[in-house]
Amino acid sequence: MDSNDLTVDVYVAPMRPFAGSPARGPGDDPMWSPMSSTLIAGAEEAILVDTLVTRDQVDSLADWVRGFKKRITGVYITHGHQDHWIGLARLQEHFPEARGIATAEVVERARFEASDPSVSAYWKASFPGELPQTAVLPEPLSGTQFELEGQILRAVSLSQGDTEFSTVLHVPSAAAVIGGDVVYNGVHMMTAETDEQSREAWISSLNAVAALNPKVVVAGHKSVGAPDLPESIGASQQYLRDFSRIVNEGGGAEDIVNAMLELHGDRDNPRTLWHSARTAVAKRG
Ligand SMILES: [Zn+2]
Repeated sequence: MDSNDLTVDVYVAPMRPFAGSPARGPGDDPMWSPMSSTLIAGAEEAILVDTLVTRDQVDSLADWVRGFKKRITGVYITHGHQDHWIGLARLQEHFPEARGIATAEVVERARFEASDPSVSAYWKASFPGELPQTAVLPEPLSGTQFELEGQILRAVSLSQGDTEFSTVLHVPSAAAVIGGDVVYNGVHMMTAETDEQSREAWISSLNAVAALNPKVVVAGHKSVGAPDLPESIGASQQYLRDFSRIVNEGGGAEDIVNAMLELHGDRDNPRTLWHSARTAVAKRG
């Protein structure tokens, strides 16, 4: 390793309850999946990737970050779902220099999530009293890359992940990809914004991640202690293929959940699977 190379360290906020609709089946209790925030550090300076959600989560993240004794100058946001950027306001109370940055499309999606009445109400109702009064949005990157202590970081737009306009952050000097919600690791994948066709696009996005030849792959939702290895790319693709196949077999939400649990029962948070299955059945009409 070159002394100029960047280092990658990952913080994971464990799974926790949120204020969602009550369970309609076993494992359907409203839990929010475990989430990562990644510190990419040079000798003096560092950035974070994604922010976590609640004040308490961000405060714990900030305590962890302080242990590295770096100047936090930026927070890269991988995609527009609020759970990945709404913590920015609290994070900037800890690290005032940390400017939020994202691709222009991600900034627009984040703006939509903050301003659309039903979407913003969903987030506030899910974490009552735990979100900032006023959202701080990331600012658009000019171009697709930026530097940290002379090393290039590349924002790779892949379009489809668990939402539209998803990106990953490629850190060539660490052979790392910070995958946002394109890659999942040991956690049920949120497919409610997709159909079979967009899941194929998502699988292609994962191929694009593999083509970067990373040695380190950090998933936006990963179980505590799961290793950040490239194997999570293929495992995510297999999960999406299995989900589409099982949905096409025509059963109801409970049948989909049971069939997926037979194959992927070791993943965290079956609530996400229930939500995905219910949405798939509703889309089938
Ligand atoms: Zn997410």
